[in-house]
Amino acid sequence: MYTLEVSGVTKYFGKACALDNVNFQVSDSELFALVGPSGSGKTTILRIICGLETADSGKVILDGRNISKLEPGARNISMMFQSPYGLLPFLNVFDNIAFGLKTRRLDSSGIEMRVVGVAHTLGIYHLLQRKIAHLSGGEQQRVALARLLVRETALSIFDEPLSHIDAHQRQHTLREILLVHRMKHRPSIYVTHDHVEAFAVASRIAVLANGRVQQIGTRDELLHTPANLFVAQFMSTPPMNLVYGYLQGAYTQEGMRFRVLSRDFSLPLPMAWTQFIQRNNWPEVVVGVRPEAIVPLGGLDAVAAKSYFRLYAEIVGHEGHEKSITVRLKVGIATELNALMYDMLPENLRTGQRMVVGIDIARLCLFDPRDGRLLL
Ligand code: ATP
Repeated sequence: MYTLEVSGVTKYFGKACALDNVNFQVSDSELFALVGPSGSGKTTILRIICGLETADSGKVILDGRNISKLEPGARNISMMFQSPYGLLPFLNVFDNIAFGLKTRRLDSSGIEMRVVGVAHTLGIYHLLQRKIAHLSGGEQQRVALARLLVRETALSIFDEPLSHIDAHQRQHTLREILLVHRMKHRPSIYVTHDHVEAFAVASRIAVLANGRVQQIGTRDELLHTPANLFVAQFMSTPPMNLVYGYLQGAYTQEGMRFRVLSRDFSLPLPMAWTQFIQRNNWPEVVVGVRPEAIVPLGGLDAVAAKSYFRLYAEIVGHEGHEKSITVRLKVGIATELNALMYDMLPENLRTGQRMVVGIDIARLCLFDPRDGRLLL
């Protein structure tokens, strides 16, 4: 059974549709992420779950109870807002953490025990008497996490918690969020526009765009079988390469095989796709080539290289470091492909240099250019 069910939620602001029939479920102890670009509806769905906004239709069920009509305070949800995290600047750290407990009929020694306990866990015990205004950004964030941890709520929500955090502090904060989530043994929702962050914390992710859930899946499902072109592009860095072209079948020694004729090259498709393509007769397609599926052929032995399609490419730029480097390649007259290569020294990659690369045929995706949906 799921602990949180968001079912058929639709919301209009005037004539503009902010959420269109949004459905997802989160199970107990699961950390579930909502990912989408700006304006995709992330904040609106959170506000509807918390009761700060009313849906035009649909419902929110928490622990088996329809909470759609309850006041925010009666929903038993704790939320960590974006910076300044919803902290009360005129109170000290202790009172900020204790704030949510005072309404819950605990006596003062019970409150103190709980506050001191979480302050120790998050390493802010020494700050308990400080005013919020006298804390660094990272310390304020730990106070917000402590406030969320101290309350025994049915659901925790983290709304873009890293949006104001320095790059070097991010890993540390993510670890603390995971710690708080695990200690609560309840479901959490983590909202972000950054897929890397979502992959780092969540077991499953819902991808939102234009108020619609595009796909729900694990990291591997979203990367290997993206439901459509939006997910393929948005959830990958660098984005999946898209090659537009026509299908053409030809007989080979192994039987009928299809290729995609694009502007600059003709890419063979997996033999296993042949029957499916014959049955459907799509006029045009888009082939998705994952950046990791393009490799320098020099490093492969002849047998391994057989499953790759050979291409002559010219390096037009690169970024990253030797562990993982994005190499921009020009193929033919005008096709640019991003390849994600590992263990290459950046100084060995010169702009203008030619290289032989291989595309792993087994890792291609096929999309319908009319609606962007994944075909194969
Ligand atoms: P961001 O990442 O920029 O915060 P978001 O994914 O959270 O964006 P929402 O804030 O939920 O997106 O907005 C979804 C859509 O609804 C947007 O087109 C936005 O302009 C619109 N919207 C949100 N709140 C209101 C409002 N109160 N009145 C009118 N339109 C609104």
